[in-house]
Amino acid sequence: AKEGGRSTYAFFTRELDEQVARRMTVEGWLRRALDTGGVEVFFQPKISQPGNRIAGAEALVRLRHPDGALIPPAEFIPVAENTGLIMPLSALVLREACRCATAWRTGPHQDFVMAVNLSPRQFQQPGLADRIRAILQETATPPEALEFEITENLLLDNRPETLETLSELRRMGAGIALDDFGKEYSSLSYIKKLPVQAIKIDRSFIDGLPGDEDDASIVKSVLSLAQGLELRVVAEGVETRAQLDFLVGLGCSEFQGYLFSKPLPAVDMQTLLGQSDPF
Ligand code: C2E
Ligand code: CA
Ligand code: CA
Ligand code: CA
Repeated sequence: AKEGGRSTYAFFTRELDEQVARRMTVEGWLRRALDTGGVEVFFQPKISQPGNRIAGAEALVRLRHPDGALIPPAEFIPVAENTGLIMPLSALVLREACRCATAWRTGPHQDFVMAVNLSPRQFQQPGLADRIRAILQETATPPEALEFEITENLLLDNRPETLETLSELRRMGAGIALDDFGKEYSSLSYIKKLPVQAIKIDRSFIDGLPGDEDDASIVKSVLSLAQGLELRVVAEGVETRAQLDFLVGLGCSEFQGYLFSKPLPAVDMQTLLGQSDPF
């Protein structure tokens, strides 16, 4: 038993060593990418019914590895959050998102709204609303062109400053959406506390539509709840025509997912916006 115990211990330390090494590697890539233009921002269109119009897009960050490969955010956002690099990274994403939003808000897309994710870590440093305001001014972006996406875990540490910052962003005219709705257990209490105008139903509930009866009834309740509270609803991760038809039948009118488009580089998103009837 002793032997077994020791080798288990050795196994776990080796695992831990590998994790630490991996994290340091990713941190190195991230630092380098921030210095050399290796941070890229992709855009995934948000589609609105009727007419399948492009109502906006979500900015999604990517890291370009020195060998050319694209590294997804799941790999490096946690590292960015633990090292503080999330601050310069987020500023870069917001600046690029603003630059594109301003360029794209013309002609039929005057009301285009750019969604930008905010990490809880950004709220822990004072002055977030001021930093955001400065980037909006620098890029001549009207606050109405932006919608910030937050997640429920933002409220876990219960700091009053967090709510103040969100209210300040609202007062400026930016939108706030509650992301990954339903993924955690306490979503319902949060929509009462937070100054949000939109919720994004988590992909995990869309996956099983239309066949899974539990998913179907959850999505139905979320939609009627949102209607009662006058919140917009975005269905995330719509991959099939059957899912779309089912959601439209329930009165959902905004969609994001591979059925329409994967996240695209800025040039490809711009091409899409130039088409008169892309979907
Ligand atoms: P999220 O905010 O929930 O973003 C949606 C994710 O779902 C994106 O993954 C998107 O590519 C993916 N997705 C969209 N439609 C579909 C679909 O039909 N099927 C499937 N299977 N997936 C779909 P991505 O780009 O890998 O981003 C993952 C997460 O990383 C994001 O989840 C967000 O939490 C975080 N993230 C991305 N960019 C940023 C950023 O600039 N700042 C911060 N703080 N977090 C970011
Ligand atoms: Ca999001
Ligand atoms: Ca989400
Ligand atoms: Ca069409």
